[in-house]
Amino acid sequence: MDKSLKAFSFDASAAWNAEAASVIAGSVNSNVRLAGAPMPLCFTRGKGAHLWDIDGNRFLDYALGMGPTILGHAPEAVNAAVADSLAQGQLFAGQHPAELDLAKALVRHIPSAQLTRVGMTGSEMVQAALRVSRAFTGKPKFIKFEGQYHGWYDNVLVSHAPRVAEPGEALPPRREPKIESKGQTEVARAEMIVLPWNDIAALEQVIAEEGGQIAAILTEPAMCNTGAIPPAPGYLERMRELATAENIVLIFDEVITGFRLGLGGGQERFGVTPDLSTFAKAMAGGYPVAALVGRADIMEMFATSGVNHSGTYNSNVQSIVAAVATLAALEDGTALARAEATGEALMEGLRGLARETGTPLRVEGWGTAFSTFFAPADHVVTDYQSFKAADGDMLQRFLSELVHRGVRPTNRGTWFVSSAHDEEDVAETLEVAREALTAL
Ligand code: PLP
Repeated sequence: MDKSLKAFSFDASAAWNAEAASVIAGSVNSNVRLAGAPMPLCFTRGKGAHLWDIDGNRFLDYALGMGPTILGHAPEAVNAAVADSLAQGQLFAGQHPAELDLAKALVRHIPSAQLTRVGMTGSEMVQAALRVSRAFTGKPKFIKFEGQYHGWYDNVLVSHAPRVAEPGEALPPRREPKIESKGQTEVARAEMIVLPWNDIAALEQVIAEEGGQIAAILTEPAMCNTGAIPPAPGYLERMRELATAENIVLIFDEVITGFRLGLGGGQERFGVTPDLSTFAKAMAGGYPVAALVGRADIMEMFATSGVNHSGTYNSNVQSIVAAVATLAALEDGTALARAEATGEALMEGLRGLARETGTPLRVEGWGTAFSTFFAPADHVVTDYQSFKAADGDMLQRFLSELVHRGVRPTNRGTWFVSSAHDEEDVAETLEVAREALTAL
């Protein structure tokens, strides 16, 4: 191990991985978990802001299951509601009364929500959104943005991590779609138009040229899978105008931003209302549930116009009860406000450490979801390419130093903060971050 790394031992995780690799492909059940220092870790327990691994290491967790555990790990109110529901059964191939409670909460909180559907994962709700957009408009293509992730299915797993331009190289505004996985069909090449984000001119041009073929614009309202990048002033507004003018469905993928950047998601925070939006992650505090919500005239096509959206496990009792309990815990706004304030204090503290240690650490985003990267102070990040121009090696070393000292952001340098993190956690995290930056 690098001498600068505090000697956390990961021997038990390493042994577990070695044995697991004989029966679990790569010892993980999601490829995202393959990446990051020091290795895929095996955890036995989470409570509040903390996780414990099988070596007995305690981590301050800022990965939060990649976003979901907005109330911290093992949230008592949610777990109690789920425990109470267990004896009722799990699946009825029919409805449960709590589905109505959840749908009403979604409609109450999300500006664009008139009608709702739930499913299990963000990936599948994105698929439902694309399908219904195509049916509604009768058009075949979609716009997505470089560096954004909308799930692992063939038609959207494109240009999430494409080539980074050489210094001085100007890429054409319309990017060549990059198929991300071996074995993936080439369907995305025909139906996905890939553009740089925050670039109004590129969007205007492609819609002027091809608007008659485009069913939907699919975007996160703020980029959270590549850094934590806000929309430029006027960008989402212009997107909204263009979509309306050309009969294009505007879809906000709020799988990360939903119930994190605000109770009404990014659409509430940035004041732009999409036609459809997808939610998952923070909506149920760690339990698997997702939602597609939106305009009644589009959403009712699932009921009246033969647009199929199905799923055996959709609205299973425990997921619905968990979502109702999570939204009830978020309802009065105090939990999110607390998470945001804690996160902002952490962001400020990290910026202070950057000045103190003379490291080009940059901290951008929002209290509940922010990004750390290494770039000169005058380097402006607006999209995938500008984010990737930052020093990725230095970021990986920083993340490694942190995780070896018990602080665990995501393996991309994104930090999620929950309502369970507190001032003491911030102080401990900054202590560790000082050591990590000094060791770089
Ligand atoms: N959309 C966004 C913005 C995401 O970040 C993710 C997952 O990280 C997805 C969709 C896919 O969601 P899931 O992993 O629940 O299928």
